[in-house]
Amino acid sequence: MARGVAVVFAKSPTEMHGDSGKDTMPSNEDDSPTGKRRRSRSGSFSVPMHPVGGLKAWWEVLEDEFFENKFGRLFVSAAAVCALADFMRARRNGTKIQDTRTVGCILENSGVLTLASLRSALPEQERVDYKGDSVIETVREFVKNSILTILGGMIVEYGSVVLLHLLQKTVYRHVRWFRPVIRDPSPFTMRSLWEWSKGNAVAQIGGNTFQVFVESFLHDDDYNKLVDTPNARLGSFLRNFIVLRIVNDILFYLGHRLLHVHPFIYRNIHKRHHSHMTTSLPTNFMFHPLDVLVEAAVPIGVGLTVIGKLLGVPMGRFESNVMVSYHSWYDAGTHMGKNIPLVSMFAPFSLMYNQIWDFDNKAIMFHELHHNKILCNYGITSWLDRLVGTAVMPK
Ligand SMILES: [Zn+2]
Ligand SMILES: [Zn+2]
Repeated sequence: MARGVAVVFAKSPTEMHGDSGKDTMPSNEDDSPTGKRRRSRSGSFSVPMHPVGGLKAWWEVLEDEFFENKFGRLFVSAAAVCALADFMRARRNGTKIQDTRTVGCILENSGVLTLASLRSALPEQERVDYKGDSVIETVREFVKNSILTILGGMIVEYGSVVLLHLLQKTVYRHVRWFRPVIRDPSPFTMRSLWEWSKGNAVAQIGGNTFQVFVESFLHDDDYNKLVDTPNARLGSFLRNFIVLRIVNDILFYLGHRLLHVHPFIYRNIHKRHHSHMTTSLPTNFMFHPLDVLVEAAVPIGVGLTVIGKLLGVPMGRFESNVMVSYHSWYDAGTHMGKNIPLVSMFAPFSLMYNQIWDFDNKAIMFHELHHNKILCNYGITSWLDRLVGTAVMPK
């Protein structure tokens, strides 16, 4: 039987994985075929690995962290006050309800969490055991894990574009494009799919197979930490989110600037992305595989490693799925070509900080300007460009 994603509520990584921490690790006995979570004496529980049970159990995680935890209640109360202020301001200004930050925040977060949950609902991977298993068994495990990891990557990457497209075509139909779009903005055309298969798909297959290869050599303890998904508390999740955003943004900036700095590298790798001088969602499929490596895989991979190794916070598949989904959504959203409140630097608390400073309002236009003018706005967010003087801010 496939094991479920196990979520451990513990106060610190040391408590979770200390010397005597064996009894804090969830076991298969916690799995329930009904999809109902069962809490063990140690406070850990597992989430069954099928879509309905996975989503239901995820909701229970949110319920525990937001309503039964003091910090979570404070977080929800602050969000409610901000939402109220937002709605009152919108009413005064005659703003459409879907253009408020509150509705944008709800749509963005629920879209991302749906994708992360779907990805987490894929069957559990098996440990590749080079020494213990036969060659055929090892190959079978490796192929199975690779397919699952590639599928998971595609759910998040392609899923973000699909959901953003649907929202753009329905809820935000009235919002005008920054520039007249000369190509079909649909990501479902044969041309778009062909472009996707030449770049993103190659990167997904190569990158995820490589990830499975690396994971197959992990020490048992490290592998168990991945599978057992510790540290799903709201407070530490938000802190990890900030760390990942900062590390990701710095590496994205450096990698992206490198892609522009040398004519040979630009011509052979990044020029394909810039064949779209003005953006729309299919621009997300105009990547060379190495472009995906430099601008997505390395920044996020290093960010997750910094959290895990330097900060000593083990992060399991479930939490890292959620993190990756937020970043994938943001990256895809910056190519929407029109200003929609669905793209936030810190989406889980975008409702709060945007009440004080409408920081995310120019997020999409900022990257649009990179496509229009090319030698500016190298960051996927604007803070580093502003810091080093390469920013051209939208009016
Ligand atoms: Zn560029
Ligand atoms: Zn771009």
